[in-house]
This record gives sequence, C-alpha cells and structure tokens, in this order.
Amino acid sequence: MPGSDGHPVDLAVIGGGIAGLWILDAAVRAGRNAILIEAFELGHGQSVAAQGIIHGGLKYTLRERDLDAAGAIADMPAFWRNRHESGDGDGPDLRAARMSAPCTWMWRTDSLASRLGMLGAKAALRTRPETVPEGERPPLLRAASGAVLRVAEPVFDTRSVLGAIAAGHTDRIFGVDGPEGMEFASAGGRVERLILRSGSGEVVVRPASVVLAAGIGNEALLARLGLDAAVAQRRPLHMALVRGRSLPEFHGHCVDGNKTRVTITSARDDAGRTIWQLGGDLAERGVDRDDMAQRQAASEELRGVLPAFDLDRIDDLEWSSYRVDRAERRTRAGLRPDDAEVISLHDGRLVTAWPTKWALAPRLAAAVLEATEGVAGSTGDASASAELPEVFETLRRPGIAAFPWEERSWTSHHDVVSAEPA
Ligand SMILES: Cc1cc2nc3c(=O)[nH]c(=O)nc-3n(C[C@H](O)[C@H](O)[C@H](O)COP(=O)(O)OP(=O)(O)OC[C@H]3O[C@@H](n4cnc5c(N)ncnc54)[C@H](O)[C@@H]3O)c2cc1C
Repeated sequence: MPGSDGHPVDLAVIGGGIAGLWILDAAVRAGRNAILIEAFELGHGQSVAAQGIIHGGLKYTLRERDLDAAGAIADMPAFWRNRHESGDGDGPDLRAARMSAPCTWMWRTDSLASRLGMLGAKAALRTRPETVPEGERPPLLRAASGAVLRVAEPVFDTRSVLGAIAAGHTDRIFGVDGPEGMEFASAGGRVERLILRSGSGEVVVRPASVVLAAGIGNEALLARLGLDAAVAQRRPLHMALVRGRSLPEFHGHCVDGNKTRVTITSARDDAGRTIWQLGGDLAERGVDRDDMAQRQAASEELRGVLPAFDLDRIDDLEWSSYRVDRAERRTRAGLRPDDAEVISLHDGRLVTAWPTKWALAPRLAAAVLEATEGVAGSTGDASASAELPEVFETLRRPGIAAFPWEERSWTSHHDVVSAEPA
C-alpha cells in the first residue's frame, strides 16, 4: 500500500531547470511514471540566466580542441526549431515558447574568416554560416571592418521555454521547502525513499531511479548521499547587463581570434526597455572585477566591438551585472565537457546529470532514459497516465524563477563613464 512505505514512482527528477524539465517530459513520453521535485523556483540558477542560444557548434570551430563538441551539438538548432514549429514528434511542445531571434550574427575584430575556413570545414556543421552582403547587415554592424556572418542558431526566451515544458506536466512538478525540504533514506547513494516536505504537507516517495539534475545543487545532493561531490565543477561568470528604451534588439557574437569577445542577446522588460545580456570572454574575465569595474569594462567593450554605435546618445541607458556559476561534470583540465554528461550508479538507480549547455538538454534526456531503462522496482504497469494520489496536492507548485535583471540594482550610464577607472 502506498502509505508510510512510500508512493512508488519510476523516476524522481530532482531539480527543475532545463535539464530536469526536459528529462521529465522525455520520461513521461516514454511511459514512465515520473515526478520532478524543485527546491526553489524552476530554472533558478543557470537556466533563467542563460542567453538561450541554441548553438550549432560554429563557436566551437574557433578552437581546434573544441571540434568534438561541435559534432555533438550540430543537430540541435534544427531540432529545437522543429520543437518550436510542431507539437508532434519527439520532445516537448515548444510552440508556446518565444523565439527571440531565428539566427545570430557573428562578426570579428581580427581574422575570423581564415579560421572559420580552416576549422569550420573539419567540423560536421549543419549550420553553415552565411556571409552577409554589406547592404543586408544589421544597422549595428554596418561599420564592421571584416565579414559579417548570419548563423542559423536560434535564440529562445529562457523563461518561456521552461514555462512551455512545465505547462505540459503541472500535475507532476512539486516544490519542497528548500533543499532541506527533502530527506533521503539511502545507503551508498541508493535511495530507498524520499520524504518531501512543503509547509504542512508531507509525501513519501519510493523511487526506482533518482536523477540529480539540480545544477550547482548536485554537489550538495551528492554530499548528502555520502558520495564524492568532486565529480562536479563550476565555471564562474560575471555577466554584464545594459538596458534602455531605444536600445535595439540584437543577438550575436563578436569573435577575436579563437575567443568569443562578447556575446550579446536581447530581452524586453515590462517597462518596455530592451535589455542586453553581455557574456563571452567579457563575463569570464569579469569574474575578478567588482560590480562597478565590470560595468565599466562592459561599456568599454561595447565601444570596442560596436564602434559605430553611440551609447552616449541613449538617454536612459543603465548598467548592471550578475554573477552565476556554470555547473558541469568535472573535466581533467577544468574545461567545458564536449557533450551532455551523466554518471550512473547502482545500475541506473542514481543518475547525476549535467546538460553542459542549455542547447544539449535533448541529448541529456536521451542519455538519462537509457541509463534508467528497466531499473528493477520500476512500477511498470503504473503507467505515466496513472494519477498520483491526492496527498501530492499538499506540496507547493513552484513557479518559474525571475530573470536575473529583475532582481538587480542599476547604475546610470553617466555614473559608469564618469567613475574613476577601476
Ligand atoms: C550566464 C549563462 C549563459 C548561458 N548561455 C547559454 C546559451 O546561450 N546556450 C546554451 O546552450 N547554454 C548556455 N548556458 C549553459 C546553460 O544555461 C546550462 O547548461 C543549463 O541551464 C543548465 O541547466 P540545469 O537544469 O542543469 O541547471 P539549472 O538551470 O541550474 O537548474 C537547476 C535546478 O535545480 C534546482 N535545485 C537546486 N538545488 C536543488 C535541490 N537540492 N533540490 C531540488 N532542486 C534543486 C534549482 O532551483 C534549479 O531549478 C549558459 C549558462 C550561463 C550561466
């Protein structure tokens, strides 16, 4: 009886970012009786903060050592585009998600063309970049000195994607009161029961498999299970933000040699302002700068990469920044893994999952399903359509986390440019 012994489920996914949500969707589609447990709000951490670019690998052809990654990611733009256009087929229905841009721009401040020619040919790219004639360049890039490329890598509004996937599974997504709102009965990483608490609600679950998909939260979860958290790594970023009503919407990368000097993506806020999220090398190097220094560096960098764009003419321009860690499976040199990564223990009874990139969530979900296929104790006949007992209603329903810029303080452009150099 599903009482104190726990309600049986095939898969308990812990963490509701892009990874956990995609895994939940794939599991339910595969007929598994799966639930997702979120300690905060969905996407809190990396997924709402991400720039939402569905890379096809072009960026990874800039460096010889990244070419393996380019192969794994090559099919992703077409796959995501298909999910956005059609409700049928393999994967979540993303028709309600917002595609902020169908493609990104790439331009350079040195000899990109030669590198792309040399390395791009070696990578199995599905998204061939297209050189854009001068007359068709976006206004911001009219003055770019080198080639301007249009890359068929779509950009998605991250919250809307998480919302679209979650909307299909509201009856299987549950919130607990922070990480402490979940208790494990486990031995050596083999979880017998999960006790979920939210307010006065309490539910005991007996999962055949547990999937840790909690981003940086995976480290603490592994430690609580008595396992080695050093299988995970973090790569920190200090992202810059700039906003203004007349800032144009723009999505692209400026590359310099084998580096992405800055990646710009755009969003709109409720007050009608355009917000640029500025990542790339600017955010990696910004980790050692304080908030003001990062705002100053970002303003300098924009002048460098968009020389024809006069920031000073936008009268309500403001700057901000936020810090966020990328959570990944550890690699020997501390570099980004090439693909989505899973570690499976006890024949699929405990799987730790990292997508590595937002774009790679579909590959991660496929790997998790494979690792947990046929695990002993799966409910089998309790199919995905089986309703969960009423006691699950006592748990809270998590919402989608806020965008990072909704919670930040902002500095006027005047104050940034007139501050003492950092
Ligand atoms: C600034 C930035 C920009 C990026 N841009 C891109 C991009 O343009 N394209 C791209 O492909 N990739 C990008 N990435 C990488 C991408 O965002 C990540 O690979 C991806 O979002 C990771 O998703 P996740 O679901 O594994 O983790 P997260 O998004 O961090 O989600 C983890 C979830 O688990 C929850 N959680 C944490 N602890 C617990 C717990 N104990 N119990 C239950 N739940 C818990 C959290 O609240 C959260 O909902 C970017 C990353 C960053 C940081």
